[in-house]
Amino acid sequence: MSHTIAIDGPAGSGKSTIAKRLAARLGFTHLDTGAMYRAITLFCLQEGMDLNDETAVVESLDRIRLRVSPDAIVLNGTDVTEEIRSVAVNAHVSLVSSYAGVREHLVAMQRRIASAQDSILDGRDIGTVVLPQADLKIYLTASPEVRAKRRLHDEKNTSRQSYEEILKAIQERDLYDSNRAVSPLRPAEDAVILDTSAMSLDEVTERIVEEFSHVSTLS
Ligand code: C5P
Repeated sequence: MSHTIAIDGPAGSGKSTIAKRLAARLGFTHLDTGAMYRAITLFCLQEGMDLNDETAVVESLDRIRLRVSPDAIVLNGTDVTEEIRSVAVNAHVSLVSSYAGVREHLVAMQRRIASAQDSILDGRDIGTVVLPQADLKIYLTASPEVRAKRRLHDEKNTSRQSYEEILKAIQERDLYDSNRAVSPLRPAEDAVILDTSAMSLDEVTERIVEEFSHVSTLS
């Protein structure tokens, strides 16, 4: 059986950066599940769909082919790794990912990928829904101000939004993701909760490697 690590947390908590580092360190594959929700949102925006029309969004899944690798995400043959980080996608991704049909589709894909190899998945519902049996569950958090600052300096952020705009967008997304009916953002009961506001990337990585060394010797 493959080993799995679940990393959840709000926007800008450092999940993807940490997951990448851990994957390199432990020789695991990294799957950024947020990128998958973003790619579907991008497709719907490109098609000019009404994103409030849940049926239309869910039906569009039949026309979407996603290829995900640790470094890129390919939507119907086009590399959209950068485009999925746009302001428009940021603004609409929470709505699209609140639809049960979208979630069922992506959760099935995510479980298939995780069952094939040792994997680290990051997202909002990995420990609670996607991989409730994960070897280790981490919930990363940090103050909204720290998270907005990190996003501002993130090289993937090409939006040119101000700190205030980023902070507002992050807070709106957190509120929506935490209050939706299906798979809301919350820590799994057995998750290790790490407030990274005052921790460096290295410190967070080391702490998780240590947590993993405890559980991997048990299994
Ligand atoms: O992680 P990232 O900020 O790229 O995620 C973008 C959005 O995708 C989140 O705000 C959330 O609405 C959605 N998402 C989700 N479940 C996941 C990963 C992301 O609902 N597992």
